[in-house]
Amino acid sequence: MAVWIIEDKCTGCGLCAKTCPYGAIAIEDKLAHVNERCTECGACLAACKFEALASDLEQEPLPDLSGYRGVWVFAEVQDGALAQVSLELLGEGARLAADLGQDLCAVLLGHGVAGLAADLAAFGATRVFLADDPGLVEYSTLAYARVLAELVRAHAPAVLLMGATPLGRDLAPRLSRRLDLGLTADCTGLAIDQETGNLLQTRPAFGGNVMATIVTPRVRPQMATVRPGVMGLPTRRAGTPAVVVRHPVVLEANDGLVRLLARQARTSQAVDLSQARVIVAGGRGCRGAGGFALLAELAQALGGELGGTRVAMEEGWISPERQIGQTGLTVRPELYLACGISGAIQHRAGCLGARYIVAVNRDRRAPIFQVADYAIAGDLFKVVPALMEALKGVD
Ligand SMILES: Cc1cc2nc3c(=O)[nH]c(=O)nc-3n(C[C@H](O)[C@H](O)[C@H](O)COP(=O)(O)OP(=O)(O)OC[C@H]3O[C@@H](n4cnc5c(N)ncnc54)[C@H](O)[C@@H]3O)c2cc1C
Repeated sequence: MAVWIIEDKCTGCGLCAKTCPYGAIAIEDKLAHVNERCTECGACLAACKFEALASDLEQEPLPDLSGYRGVWVFAEVQDGALAQVSLELLGEGARLAADLGQDLCAVLLGHGVAGLAADLAAFGATRVFLADDPGLVEYSTLAYARVLAELVRAHAPAVLLMGATPLGRDLAPRLSRRLDLGLTADCTGLAIDQETGNLLQTRPAFGGNVMATIVTPRVRPQMATVRPGVMGLPTRRAGTPAVVVRHPVVLEANDGLVRLLARQARTSQAVDLSQARVIVAGGRGCRGAGGFALLAELAQALGGELGGTRVAMEEGWISPERQIGQTGLTVRPELYLACGISGAIQHRAGCLGARYIVAVNRDRRAPIFQVADYAIAGDLFKVVPALMEALKGVD
């Protein structure tokens, strides 16, 4: 056990047990006991007023990580172009690199993709690590993990960021396991701790009820994924070309064990809410398909798309690709019109990037009003038709 109790200091006060998020401490006979649920998170150590807890980790000196330098962004290629999330991460990465006083670099894997290095430079990368090989023409878990791991071992970056896309969600955990690193998935905020230089990785935790900031002080690179749309898109600038560092690719037979057999285009009409300028979203307050039909009319009148809460998705009033929030999409429209939505933290996580939030709710204390730029306290079945009526006179 890496966390233990110093018995002659423990008073059995129970503060540590109350603080432990995993229920890993029990008080028996006026003494704290740590059980197998302990994850060594260290929360109890900070809570104990009597210094009656200790851990292995606390006593181990921090390793010298000064040789790890640079903020890397994995440049995901989708249909021959850079994925938008990679560009968003370059914008965020540039800020982190400036705070660290280090370079912003991109890692580009594929075949015939060298031309994309210019795009990466235009979005801030000063150096592009390029692995161009016929074996990388299609994404393959093992081949990509091998090449990326080789690059990380050879060049030792301090930070590695990836998009939380289907590809990123497959590749990032594979790489972190291969290199024995930590990985913080679905971050909503990234910053540099000025004192230690550690990456502060913020994400919702415990069902979205708290925002946790995670640090990885003992290993490098610090790996994090971010969902598309969470960070803003930086402006493209014409500037200095990036230095391209070519990496020789040598794949092994086993790297081809997972192969792409075929691609099948989605047959249903796909919607992409991440690009919508206006979203009219509904929740339980819409009461059913009828309420959503009303919102769809408003969305059409505003040239926007229909979205909704998880409740609306679970009830079958909207399709899953229209769910907004922590387990749905993150959107950044100009206008987000929330109708009959309470504004639970898990929903707000997906819409806070909107330029304007307008909320319609009949409960004046609804949490959505705390984040709304304009609040309409009223019954949506009266407010929405009134809005449509008012729109009739507008071009
Ligand atoms: C791990 C986890 C992940 C989650 N992920 C998501 C997610 O991605 N997205 C998401 O949305 N939720 C998510 N949730 C669920 C979330 O916690 C809330 O339960 C959900 O967002 C509530 O949806 P709602 O606002 O539609 O319903 P409710 O909370 O029931 O709110 C309905 C609102 O409608 C108002 N209302 C009722 N009638 C009217 C009317 N006639 N006119 C105007 N207002 C009216 C009410 O006053 C109320 O405020 C998640 C939860 C967990 C635990």
